[in-house]
Amino acid sequence: MIALARKYRPKRFSDLIVQTHVAAGLRGAVAAGRVAHGYLFAGPRGVGKTTAARVLAMALNCERRDASGVAGEPCGACDSCARIWTGAANLDVVELDAASNRGVDDARDLRERAMYAASAEGRHKVYIVDEAHMLTREAWNALLKILEEPPPGVVFVFATTEPQKIAQSAAPILSRLQRFDFRRIGPHAITDRLKQVLAAEGLAADDDAVQLIAKSADGGMRDGLSILDQVLSFGEGPVTAQRVRDVLGLIPEDMYGELLRLVADRDTHAVFPLVERLVDAGADLGEFVAGAGEALRAVLLVGLGGKPEGLTEGMVALIDRYRSLLPAPDVVRLLVVLSEMETQLRTSGSPRLAVELLLLRWAMMGRTVELQAVIEALGKKPGKGEEGRGKGDPAPVLRDAAPVPLPPSPAIPPEKGPLTLDRLRALWPRIIDDARAKSPMLGALLQAAEIAAIEGNTLAIRLLDTNPVHVEGIERQRDALALLVGRYAADPIRIRLEGAARGERPAARAARMTEEGVRADRLTALRARDPSLNTAIEALDLELLE
Ligand SMILES: [Zn+2]
Repeated sequence: MIALARKYRPKRFSDLIVQTHVAAGLRGAVAAGRVAHGYLFAGPRGVGKTTAARVLAMALNCERRDASGVAGEPCGACDSCARIWTGAANLDVVELDAASNRGVDDARDLRERAMYAASAEGRHKVYIVDEAHMLTREAWNALLKILEEPPPGVVFVFATTEPQKIAQSAAPILSRLQRFDFRRIGPHAITDRLKQVLAAEGLAADDDAVQLIAKSADGGMRDGLSILDQVLSFGEGPVTAQRVRDVLGLIPEDMYGELLRLVADRDTHAVFPLVERLVDAGADLGEFVAGAGEALRAVLLVGLGGKPEGLTEGMVALIDRYRSLLPAPDVVRLLVVLSEMETQLRTSGSPRLAVELLLLRWAMMGRTVELQAVIEALGKKPGKGEEGRGKGDPAPVLRDAAPVPLPPSPAIPPEKGPLTLDRLRALWPRIIDDARAKSPMLGALLQAAEIAAIEGNTLAIRLLDTNPVHVEGIERQRDALALLVGRYAADPIRIRLEGAARGERPAARAARMTEEGVRADRLTALRARDPSLNTAIEALDLELLE
């Protein structure tokens, strides 16, 4: 069996998928007899640059050109076409790889050979210089002389993935070249072409299998067919997704399913087992991270009303299952974390640990919606007798690892002074405002607390309720609070937390207590409704401690 990659190499301009603008331009030039002496074919690898150059050579030299009825098309079948297409020794097409022939001597040699022009009267000689950006300045200078006075019937095609490098090293030559920019071939176009080829060969393949091949081809049509060849060479019968995975050593989709699940469920316990499974299966962790990024990007795209291209049915089903659990703002933050960790993931001496950390950060990340619920439960609707403190504070949308935005600082700078009970009690509302400015949650926690005593440099704080969440919260925020109070004191402050003020609370506090109780109840209810809220609260505290 002839390799498909070879058998289905384009023989005509009309076979050049995606690059229809190039095909039309070149076909028109051949038909009108206005082919340029020099072309620059720019574009990513594998998109058909050298193939287009060969088709151009075929069209220029075809013995039965226009036989198909389309002006400028090669017949693809005559001796000349066949020789050029198969790459058999012929004098009319010379292919050079600048990556290996980049010296000035080669350019001189090229120049001398070009002088001989084409092999016969009326024929064209086409020089195809691949990776042209690798040519030296000297080589370009030699070529410039040829292009200034081109021998009749000689056409140069410079193919490059990096046209900007040619602009740097050989700007004058660019003005002598006609430029075509080749487009990247999307997975959709590759899928279509693969299906055509499979149908023409009478071969059966699952849609998912074709999608996987197209994805692995990464924009290269020739690579797509080569991969299909490879898969066909292993085993018989219909091409299944499993067979493609086996041949290419791809990571099974259920691994990505498990990843999305653990991120959506914030299941930190599942991180280490998943990475272990990947390592045991011999998976490339870099590929896994790239695949995870793609999966999240697809969730984001679907969440924003888009339609991701080139996904297998299995992945589409996965994305569908998790899209509602992973709203767009959350996915954006997950992807930001990924990009933050990119260097670490690439260069880490311990890639496994780097991947584990990434997944842990993803699994621990708070969720926009729930954080808002917490803030609302704790901070909004201030109680009676609180001088409307906190009014107009919108529940902020918190971002993981990002500082809470600070409102404009109070007009009066803090004055340092003696640590007396009366003074601090008088300052307490201001301290709460300061705290709120730093973090709405700390502000809310302090509203549920009062100053109990001063002992030297230690300030004793007493909670006005017995909510364990509040106790924990203030415990965690003791250092932050010490700094806030310290702004009003000459010496560093320490914070001590006393238990709830049972039975000894002033009558004036009663109303507020009730209000606090309501808030606490609301939080307890929230936590009961969604146990994962604990993680959100933890994430929030991590942030506030920052
Ligand atoms: Zn022909």
